[in-house]
Amino acid sequence: MTESVTNWAGNIVFTAKEVLRPRSLDELRSLVAGSSRVRVLGSGHSFNKIAEPGDGGVLLSLDGLSGEIDVDSSARTVRVGGGVRYAELARRVHGHGLALANMASLPHISVAGSVATGTHGSGVTNGPLSGSVREVEIVTADGSTVVVGRGDRRFGGAVTSLGALGVVTALTLDLEPAYEVEQHLFTGLPLEGLDFEAVASAAYSVSLFTDWGAPGFRQVWVKRRTDGPPADFPWAAPAVEALHPVPGMPAVNCTEQFGVPGPWHERLPHFRAEFTPSSGNELQSEYLLPRPQALRALRAIDGIRQTVAPVLQICEVRTVAADGQWLSPSYGRDTVALHFTWVEDTAAVLPVVRAVEAELEPFEPRPHWGKVFQLPADVVRGRYPRIADFTALARVLDPAGKFSNAFVRDVLGG
Ligand SMILES: Cc1cc2nc3c(=O)[nH]c(=O)nc-3n(C[C@H](O)[C@H](O)[C@H](O)COP(=O)(O)OP(=O)(O)OC[C@H]3O[C@@H](n4cnc5c(N)ncnc54)[C@H](O)[C@@H]3O)c2cc1C
Repeated sequence: MTESVTNWAGNIVFTAKEVLRPRSLDELRSLVAGSSRVRVLGSGHSFNKIAEPGDGGVLLSLDGLSGEIDVDSSARTVRVGGGVRYAELARRVHGHGLALANMASLPHISVAGSVATGTHGSGVTNGPLSGSVREVEIVTADGSTVVVGRGDRRFGGAVTSLGALGVVTALTLDLEPAYEVEQHLFTGLPLEGLDFEAVASAAYSVSLFTDWGAPGFRQVWVKRRTDGPPADFPWAAPAVEALHPVPGMPAVNCTEQFGVPGPWHERLPHFRAEFTPSSGNELQSEYLLPRPQALRALRAIDGIRQTVAPVLQICEVRTVAADGQWLSPSYGRDTVALHFTWVEDTAAVLPVVRAVEAELEPFEPRPHWGKVFQLPADVVRGRYPRIADFTALARVLDPAGKFSNAFVRDVLGG
Protein backbone atom coordinates (compact mmCIF):
# COMPACT_ATOMS: atom_id res chain seq x y z
CA MET A 1 0.00 0.00 0.00
CA THR A 2 1.32 3.46 -0.90
CA GLU A 3 1.51 5.74 2.13
CA SER A 4 0.30 9.30 1.76
CA VAL A 5 2.78 12.17 1.87
CA THR A 6 1.89 14.77 4.50
CA ASN A 7 3.38 17.83 6.13
CA TRP A 8 4.84 17.58 9.64
CA ALA A 9 1.54 18.42 11.35
CA GLY A 10 -0.38 15.92 9.18
CA ASN A 11 -3.14 18.41 8.33
CA ILE A 12 -2.03 18.56 4.66
CA VAL A 13 -1.97 15.46 2.46
CA PHE A 14 -0.05 16.24 -0.71
CA THR A 15 -1.41 15.03 -4.06
CA ALA A 16 2.05 13.68 -4.91
CA LYS A 17 2.18 10.02 -3.88
CA GLU A 18 5.91 10.05 -3.22
CA VAL A 19 8.74 12.45 -2.51
CA LEU A 20 11.58 12.23 -5.03
CA ARG A 21 15.06 12.44 -3.49
CA PRO A 22 17.74 13.06 -6.12
CA ARG A 23 21.20 11.80 -4.99
CA SER A 24 23.21 14.34 -6.98
CA LEU A 25 22.91 17.83 -8.40
CA ASP A 26 22.97 16.40 -11.92
CA GLU A 27 20.09 14.07 -11.11
CA LEU A 28 18.19 17.01 -9.63
CA ARG A 29 18.81 19.13 -12.74
CA SER A 30 17.50 16.47 -15.10
CA LEU A 31 14.49 15.77 -12.88
CA VAL A 32 13.61 19.46 -12.93
CA ALA A 33 14.22 19.86 -16.66
CA GLY A 34 12.12 16.77 -17.42
CA SER A 35 9.09 17.64 -15.26
CA SER A 36 6.29 20.04 -16.04
CA ARG A 37 5.46 20.98 -12.41
CA VAL A 38 7.84 20.89 -9.47
CA ARG A 39 7.71 21.94 -5.82
CA VAL A 40 10.29 21.35 -3.12
CA LEU A 41 9.40 20.02 0.30
CA GLY A 42 11.79 21.32 2.96
CA SER A 43 11.32 19.86 6.44
CA GLY A 44 7.53 20.11 5.90
CA HIS A 45 6.86 22.38 8.87
CA SER A 46 4.37 24.62 7.03
CA PHE A 47 0.70 24.24 7.89
CA ASN A 48 -0.88 25.05 4.52
CA LYS A 49 -0.60 24.00 0.86
CA ILE A 50 2.38 26.21 0.07
CA ALA A 51 4.48 23.15 -0.93
CA GLU A 52 1.68 21.34 -2.79
CA PRO A 53 2.81 20.50 -6.34
CA GLY A 54 -0.71 20.02 -7.75
CA ASP A 55 -2.08 17.06 -9.71
CA GLY A 56 0.66 15.32 -11.67
CA GLY A 57 3.33 17.55 -10.16
CA VAL A 58 6.60 16.36 -8.68
CA LEU A 59 7.44 16.87 -4.98
CA LEU A 60 11.20 17.00 -4.47
CA SER A 61 13.27 16.73 -1.31
CA LEU A 62 16.94 17.65 -1.09
CA ASP A 63 17.49 15.19 1.81
CA GLY A 64 19.37 12.85 -0.55
CA LEU A 65 22.03 15.44 -1.39
CA SER A 66 25.22 15.84 0.60
CA GLY A 67 23.99 18.55 3.00
CA GLU A 68 26.98 20.81 2.48
CA ILE A 69 27.94 23.15 5.33
CA ASP A 70 31.07 25.02 4.33
CA VAL A 71 32.25 27.63 6.84
CA ASP A 72 34.62 30.37 5.68
CA SER A 73 36.00 31.64 8.99
CA SER A 74 37.92 34.58 7.57
CA ALA A 75 35.00 35.86 5.50
CA ARG A 76 32.59 34.97 8.37
CA THR A 77 30.18 33.26 6.00
CA VAL A 78 28.78 29.78 5.56
CA ARG A 79 27.54 28.07 2.41
CA VAL A 80 24.74 25.61 3.14
CA GLY A 81 23.00 23.07 0.93
CA GLY A 82 19.31 23.51 0.15
CA GLY A 83 18.20 20.67 2.48
CA VAL A 84 20.22 21.61 5.59
CA ARG A 85 18.37 22.24 8.86
CA TYR A 86 19.21 24.93 11.41
CA ALA A 87 20.11 22.50 14.21
CA GLU A 88 22.96 20.94 12.23
CA LEU A 89 24.04 24.27 10.75
CA ALA A 90 24.16 25.93 14.18
CA ARG A 91 26.31 23.16 15.70
CA ARG A 92 28.82 23.36 12.85
CA VAL A 93 28.99 27.14 12.80
CA HIS A 94 29.46 27.24 16.59
CA GLY A 95 32.29 24.75 16.25
CA HIS A 96 34.13 27.42 14.25
CA GLY A 97 33.57 30.04 16.97
CA LEU A 98 30.91 31.75 14.86
CA ALA A 99 27.17 32.36 15.11
CA LEU A 100 23.98 33.27 13.31
CA ALA A 101 22.24 36.48 14.33
CA ASN A 102 19.01 34.77 15.34
CA MET A 103 16.99 31.55 15.26
CA ALA A 104 13.33 30.51 15.18
CA SER A 105 11.64 28.75 18.12
CA LEU A 106 12.47 25.32 16.72
CA PRO A 107 15.86 24.38 15.20
CA HIS A 108 14.56 21.40 13.21
CA ILE A 109 13.33 23.48 10.25
CA SER A 110 15.30 23.72 7.00
CA VAL A 111 17.19 26.92 6.18
CA ALA A 112 15.90 27.16 2.58
CA GLY A 113 12.29 26.45 3.58
CA SER A 114 12.45 28.93 6.46
CA VAL A 115 13.82 31.86 4.53
CA ALA A 116 11.39 31.07 1.65
CA THR A 117 8.44 31.83 3.98
CA GLY A 118 9.89 34.77 5.95
CA THR A 119 10.43 32.74 9.13
CA HIS A 120 11.66 34.82 12.07
CA GLY A 121 12.67 34.73 15.71
CA SER A 122 12.20 37.74 17.97
CA GLY A 123 13.97 41.02 18.73
CA VAL A 124 13.30 44.65 17.90
CA THR A 125 16.66 44.88 16.13
CA ASN A 126 16.50 41.41 14.54
CA GLY A 127 15.07 41.06 11.03
CA PRO A 128 13.73 37.73 9.79
CA LEU A 129 16.15 34.81 9.28
CA SER A 130 16.39 35.74 5.57
CA GLY A 131 18.36 38.82 6.70
CA SER A 132 21.49 36.64 7.04
CA VAL A 133 21.32 35.47 3.43
CA ARG A 134 23.87 37.11 1.14
CA GLU A 135 23.59 34.82 -1.87
CA VAL A 136 21.21 32.19 -3.16
CA GLU A 137 21.74 29.52 -5.85
CA ILE A 138 18.62 28.43 -7.70
CA VAL A 139 18.16 25.59 -10.18
CA THR A 140 15.60 27.04 -12.58
CA ALA A 141 13.09 25.45 -14.95
CA ASP A 142 15.58 24.30 -17.64
CA GLY A 143 17.92 22.79 -15.04
CA SER A 144 20.48 25.59 -15.16
CA THR A 145 21.72 27.46 -12.06
CA VAL A 146 21.10 31.14 -11.38
CA VAL A 147 23.10 32.82 -8.60
CA VAL A 148 21.63 35.96 -7.04
CA GLY A 149 23.61 37.90 -4.45
CA ARG A 150 23.15 41.07 -2.45
CA GLY A 151 23.60 44.01 -4.78
CA ASP A 152 21.86 42.19 -7.65
CA ARG A 153 18.62 44.07 -8.47
CA ARG A 154 16.74 40.73 -8.29
CA PHE A 155 17.90 40.04 -4.73
CA GLY A 156 14.76 41.55 -3.09
CA GLY A 157 12.70 38.75 -4.63
CA ALA A 158 15.19 35.92 -4.52
CA VAL A 159 15.22 34.79 -0.88
CA THR A 160 11.66 34.98 0.47
CA SER A 161 10.31 33.50 -2.75
CA LEU A 162 7.70 30.93 -1.57
CA GLY A 163 9.62 28.34 -3.60
CA ALA A 164 8.25 29.94 -6.78
CA LEU A 165 11.52 30.68 -8.62
CA GLY A 166 13.14 27.25 -8.65
CA VAL A 167 14.97 24.79 -6.42
CA VAL A 168 17.28 26.54 -3.95
CA THR A 169 20.32 24.27 -3.90
CA ALA A 170 22.59 26.47 -1.74
CA LEU A 171 22.57 29.64 0.32
CA THR A 172 25.45 31.72 1.66
CA LEU A 173 24.78 33.27 5.06
CA ASP A 174 26.51 35.97 7.11
CA LEU A 175 27.99 34.93 10.44
CA GLU A 176 29.30 36.82 13.43
CA PRO A 177 31.59 35.84 16.32
CA ALA A 178 29.93 33.31 18.65
CA TYR A 179 28.15 34.84 21.64
CA GLU A 180 26.43 33.64 24.78
CA VAL A 181 22.84 34.18 25.80
CA GLU A 182 21.07 34.02 29.17
CA GLN A 183 17.42 33.07 29.19
CA HIS A 184 15.32 34.60 31.99
CA LEU A 185 11.66 33.72 32.37
CA PHE A 186 9.04 35.88 34.08
CA THR A 187 5.41 35.17 34.93
CA GLY A 188 2.24 37.25 35.21
CA LEU A 189 2.71 40.31 32.99
CA PRO A 190 -0.55 42.32 32.94
CA LEU A 191 -1.99 43.69 29.70
CA GLU A 192 -3.36 46.67 31.59
CA GLY A 193 -0.69 49.39 31.58
CA LEU A 194 1.63 47.35 29.33
CA ASP A 195 4.46 49.45 27.85
CA PHE A 196 4.94 47.17 24.86
CA GLU A 197 7.93 49.03 23.43
CA ALA A 198 9.80 48.89 26.72
CA VAL A 199 9.01 45.20 27.30
CA ALA A 200 9.86 44.15 23.73
CA SER A 201 13.11 46.13 23.85
CA ALA A 202 14.21 44.81 27.26
CA ALA A 203 16.70 42.37 25.72
CA TYR A 204 18.05 40.95 22.44
CA SER A 205 15.04 38.67 21.99
CA VAL A 206 11.78 38.82 23.94
CA SER A 207 8.68 36.61 23.60
CA LEU A 208 5.38 37.05 25.45
CA PHE A 209 3.08 34.04 25.93
CA THR A 210 -0.62 33.93 26.79
CA ASP A 211 -3.39 31.34 26.46
CA TRP A 212 -5.94 34.20 26.51
CA GLY A 213 -7.66 32.43 29.40
CA ALA A 214 -7.22 35.74 31.24
CA PRO A 215 -6.00 39.19 30.18
CA GLY A 216 -2.23 39.53 30.16
CA PHE A 217 0.68 37.16 29.71
CA ARG A 218 1.41 33.99 31.67
CA GLN A 219 5.08 34.02 30.68
CA VAL A 220 7.73 36.31 29.22
CA TRP A 221 10.95 34.79 27.83
CA VAL A 222 13.80 37.30 27.91
CA LYS A 223 16.94 36.26 26.00
CA ARG A 224 19.88 38.50 26.83
CA ARG A 225 23.22 38.45 25.03
CA THR A 226 25.94 38.47 27.67
CA ASP A 227 27.91 40.91 25.50
CA GLY A 228 24.92 43.31 25.63
CA PRO A 229 23.45 45.50 28.35
CA PRO A 230 21.90 43.89 31.46
CA ALA A 231 18.22 43.01 31.05
CA ASP A 232 16.19 44.95 33.56
CA PHE A 233 12.67 43.49 33.72
CA PRO A 234 10.66 45.21 36.48
CA TRP A 235 7.19 44.42 35.04
CA ALA A 236 6.74 40.76 36.09
CA ALA A 237 7.96 38.24 38.66
CA PRO A 238 10.90 35.90 37.90
CA ALA A 239 9.76 32.31 37.24
CA VAL A 240 10.38 29.95 40.16
CA GLU A 241 10.37 26.73 38.11
CA ALA A 242 11.40 25.72 34.58
CA LEU A 243 8.53 26.30 32.18
CA HIS A 244 7.21 25.12 28.81
CA PRO A 245 5.27 27.81 26.91
CA VAL A 246 2.18 25.55 26.67
CA PRO A 247 0.50 25.18 30.07
CA GLY A 248 0.82 21.63 31.44
CA MET A 249 3.63 20.53 29.09
CA PRO A 250 6.94 19.38 30.66
CA ALA A 251 9.81 21.87 30.46
CA VAL A 252 12.37 19.10 29.86
CA ASN A 253 12.38 19.74 26.08
CA CYS A 254 12.91 23.48 26.50
CA THR A 255 16.25 25.23 26.31
CA GLU A 256 18.04 26.05 29.59
CA GLN A 257 16.44 28.77 31.72
CA PHE A 258 17.18 30.66 35.00
CA GLY A 259 19.76 32.92 33.35
CA VAL A 260 22.40 30.20 32.93
CA PRO A 261 24.64 31.58 30.17
CA GLY A 262 25.11 29.30 27.20
CA PRO A 263 25.87 29.23 23.49
CA TRP A 264 23.55 31.28 21.27
CA HIS A 265 22.11 28.20 19.50
CA GLU A 266 21.17 26.53 22.79
CA ARG A 267 19.25 29.56 24.08
CA LEU A 268 17.69 31.44 21.13
CA PRO A 269 15.34 28.56 20.12
CA HIS A 270 12.77 27.71 22.78
CA PHE A 271 13.17 23.97 22.15
CA ARG A 272 16.25 21.78 22.38
CA ALA A 273 17.72 20.46 19.14
CA GLU A 274 18.15 16.95 20.61
CA PHE A 275 14.41 16.76 21.25
CA THR A 276 12.96 15.67 17.90
CA PRO A 277 9.21 16.15 17.64
CA SER A 278 8.10 13.55 15.06
CA SER A 279 4.72 15.11 14.49
CA GLY A 280 2.83 17.96 16.03
CA ASN A 281 -0.66 17.80 17.42
CA GLU A 282 -1.25 21.40 16.52
CA LEU A 283 -2.04 23.98 13.86
CA GLN A 284 -0.46 27.41 13.72
CA SER A 285 -1.42 30.87 12.46
CA GLU A 286 0.56 34.09 12.70
CA TYR A 287 -0.10 37.70 11.74
CA LEU A 288 2.58 40.35 11.30
CA LEU A 289 1.53 43.97 11.69
CA PRO A 290 3.17 47.34 12.35
CA ARG A 291 4.83 47.36 15.78
CA PRO A 292 3.35 50.73 16.84
CA GLN A 293 -0.07 48.99 16.66
CA ALA A 294 0.96 46.22 19.08
CA LEU A 295 -1.01 47.33 22.10
CA ARG A 296 -4.18 48.06 20.14
CA ALA A 297 -3.92 44.69 18.38
CA LEU A 298 -3.43 42.86 21.69
CA ARG A 299 -6.45 44.65 23.17
CA ALA A 300 -8.49 43.63 20.11
CA ILE A 301 -7.63 39.95 20.64
CA ASP A 302 -8.27 40.34 24.36
CA GLY A 303 -11.79 41.49 23.38
CA ILE A 304 -12.50 38.06 21.81
CA ARG A 305 -10.52 35.90 24.20
CA GLN A 306 -13.61 33.84 25.08
CA THR A 307 -13.74 32.83 21.40
CA VAL A 308 -9.99 32.29 21.05
CA ALA A 309 -9.10 30.47 24.27
CA PRO A 310 -11.11 27.24 23.77
CA VAL A 311 -9.16 26.22 20.63
CA LEU A 312 -5.83 27.77 21.57
CA GLN A 313 -2.81 25.99 23.02
CA ILE A 314 -0.70 29.13 23.28
CA CYS A 315 -0.25 32.58 21.71
CA GLU A 316 3.26 34.02 21.35
CA VAL A 317 3.98 37.69 20.70
CA ARG A 318 7.33 38.57 19.10
CA THR A 319 8.92 41.47 17.26
CA VAL A 320 10.75 41.54 13.91
CA ALA A 321 12.76 44.44 12.49
CA ALA A 322 11.78 45.72 9.03
CA ASP A 323 13.54 44.07 6.09
CA GLY A 324 13.76 44.44 2.33
CA GLN A 325 12.61 41.10 0.88
CA TRP A 326 9.63 42.01 -1.34
CA LEU A 327 7.48 39.11 -0.11
CA SER A 328 8.64 39.23 3.50
CA PRO A 329 5.74 39.67 5.96
CA SER A 330 7.97 42.21 7.75
CA TYR A 331 8.86 44.03 4.49
CA GLY A 332 9.34 47.74 5.13
CA ARG A 333 7.81 47.85 8.57
CA ASP A 334 9.03 47.23 12.10
CA THR A 335 6.72 44.44 13.10
CA VAL A 336 4.90 42.80 15.95
CA ALA A 337 4.01 39.16 15.24
CA LEU A 338 0.98 37.57 16.92
CA HIS A 339 1.35 33.81 16.73
CA PHE A 340 -1.34 31.26 17.64
CA THR A 341 -0.69 27.56 18.27
CA TRP A 342 -4.13 26.01 17.93
CA VAL A 343 -5.48 22.57 18.77
CA GLU A 344 -5.29 20.21 15.78
CA ASP A 345 -9.00 20.41 14.93
CA THR A 346 -9.21 22.30 11.61
CA ALA A 347 -13.03 22.57 11.61
CA ALA A 348 -13.05 24.13 15.08
CA VAL A 349 -10.06 26.37 14.43
CA LEU A 350 -10.99 27.99 11.08
CA PRO A 351 -13.93 30.07 12.36
CA VAL A 352 -11.69 31.37 15.14
CA VAL A 353 -8.94 32.17 12.63
CA ARG A 354 -11.52 34.27 10.75
CA ALA A 355 -12.56 35.99 13.98
CA VAL A 356 -8.92 36.85 14.76
CA GLU A 357 -8.43 38.17 11.23
CA ALA A 358 -11.53 40.36 11.54
CA GLU A 359 -10.22 41.87 14.79
CA LEU A 360 -6.76 42.49 13.36
CA GLU A 361 -8.00 43.88 10.02
CA PRO A 362 -7.65 47.57 11.03
CA PHE A 363 -3.91 46.93 11.51
CA GLU A 364 -3.38 45.49 8.00
CA PRO A 365 -1.90 42.17 9.10
CA ARG A 366 0.22 40.08 6.75
CA PRO A 367 -0.18 36.35 7.45
CA HIS A 368 2.86 34.12 7.91
CA TRP A 369 3.26 32.31 4.56
CA GLY A 370 3.78 28.94 6.23
CA LYS A 371 0.77 28.95 8.54
CA VAL A 372 -3.03 28.72 8.43
CA PHE A 373 -4.86 31.83 7.24
CA GLN A 374 -8.20 32.67 5.68
CA LEU A 375 -7.64 36.23 4.45
CA PRO A 376 -8.65 36.60 0.78
CA ALA A 377 -5.72 36.48 -1.64
CA ASP A 378 -6.41 39.95 -3.06
CA VAL A 379 -6.33 41.46 0.44
CA VAL A 380 -3.00 39.77 1.19
CA ARG A 381 -1.59 40.80 -2.20
CA GLY A 382 -2.57 44.41 -1.56
CA ARG A 383 -0.32 44.45 1.51
CA TYR A 384 2.84 43.86 -0.55
CA PRO A 385 3.91 47.04 -2.38
CA ARG A 386 6.57 45.18 -4.42
CA ILE A 387 4.40 42.23 -5.49
CA ALA A 388 4.51 43.30 -9.16
CA ASP A 389 8.32 43.21 -9.04
CA PHE A 390 8.20 39.68 -7.67
CA THR A 391 5.71 38.57 -10.34
CA ALA A 392 7.96 40.03 -13.05
CA LEU A 393 10.98 38.19 -11.60
CA ALA A 394 9.04 34.90 -11.47
CA ARG A 395 8.04 35.38 -15.14
CA VAL A 396 11.67 35.80 -16.15
CA LEU A 397 13.09 32.89 -14.11
CA ASP A 398 10.11 30.56 -14.55
CA PRO A 399 8.25 31.63 -17.71
CA ALA A 400 6.08 28.49 -17.93
CA GLY A 401 5.17 28.51 -14.23
CA LYS A 402 6.84 25.15 -13.56
CA PHE A 403 7.42 26.11 -9.90
CA SER A 404 4.03 27.72 -9.41
CA ASN A 405 1.09 26.14 -7.62
CA ALA A 406 -2.42 27.19 -6.57
CA PHE A 407 -1.08 28.89 -3.42
CA VAL A 408 1.43 30.97 -5.38
CA ARG A 409 -1.03 31.78 -8.19
CA ASP A 410 -3.49 33.08 -5.56
CA VAL A 411 -0.85 35.27 -3.98
CA LEU A 412 0.41 36.65 -7.26
CA GLY A 413 -3.05 37.01 -8.74
CA GLY A 414 -3.27 34.47 -11.54
C1 LIG B 1 6.86 23.56 15.59
C2 LIG B 1 7.05 24.70 14.64
C3 LIG B 1 7.70 25.84 15.07
C4 LIG B 1 7.84 26.94 14.20
N1 LIG B 1 8.48 28.04 14.65
C5 LIG B 1 8.54 29.14 13.87
C6 LIG B 1 9.15 30.34 14.34
O1 LIG B 1 9.70 30.40 15.44
N2 LIG B 1 9.12 31.42 13.53
C7 LIG B 1 8.52 31.41 12.30
O2 LIG B 1 8.52 32.44 11.63
N3 LIG B 1 7.99 30.27 11.81
C8 LIG B 1 7.99 29.15 12.57
N4 LIG B 1 7.42 28.00 12.07
C9 LIG B 1 6.99 27.96 10.67
C10 LIG B 1 8.14 27.44 9.81
O3 LIG B 1 9.33 28.12 10.08
C11 LIG B 1 7.86 27.64 8.32
O4 LIG B 1 6.71 26.90 8.00
C12 LIG B 1 9.02 27.21 7.44
O5 LIG B 1 8.69 27.39 6.09
C13 LIG B 1 9.45 25.79 7.72
O6 LIG B 1 10.52 25.40 6.91
P1 LIG B 1 10.40 24.00 6.11
O7 LIG B 1 11.74 23.64 5.63
O8 LIG B 1 9.68 23.03 6.95
O9 LIG B 1 9.52 24.48 4.90
P2 LIG B 1 8.42 23.64 4.10
O10 LIG B 1 7.14 23.74 4.82
O11 LIG B 1 8.91 22.31 3.75
O12 LIG B 1 8.35 24.55 2.78
C14 LIG B 1 8.00 25.91 2.86
C15 LIG B 1 8.15 26.53 1.47
O13 LIG B 1 9.53 26.58 1.13
C16 LIG B 1 9.74 25.94 -0.11
N5 LIG B 1 11.05 25.32 -0.08
C17 LIG B 1 11.58 24.55 0.89
N6 LIG B 1 12.85 24.19 0.57
C18 LIG B 1 13.09 24.73 -0.65
C19 LIG B 1 14.20 24.69 -1.53
N7 LIG B 1 15.34 24.07 -1.23
N8 LIG B 1 14.08 25.34 -2.72
C20 LIG B 1 12.95 26.00 -3.05
N9 LIG B 1 11.88 26.07 -2.24
C21 LIG B 1 11.95 25.43 -1.07
C22 LIG B 1 8.60 24.95 -0.24
O14 LIG B 1 8.33 24.64 -1.58
C23 LIG B 1 7.47 25.75 0.37
O15 LIG B 1 6.95 26.63 -0.57
C24 LIG B 1 7.31 26.88 12.89
C25 LIG B 1 6.67 25.71 12.45
C26 LIG B 1 6.54 24.63 13.32
C27 LIG B 1 5.87 23.40 12.84
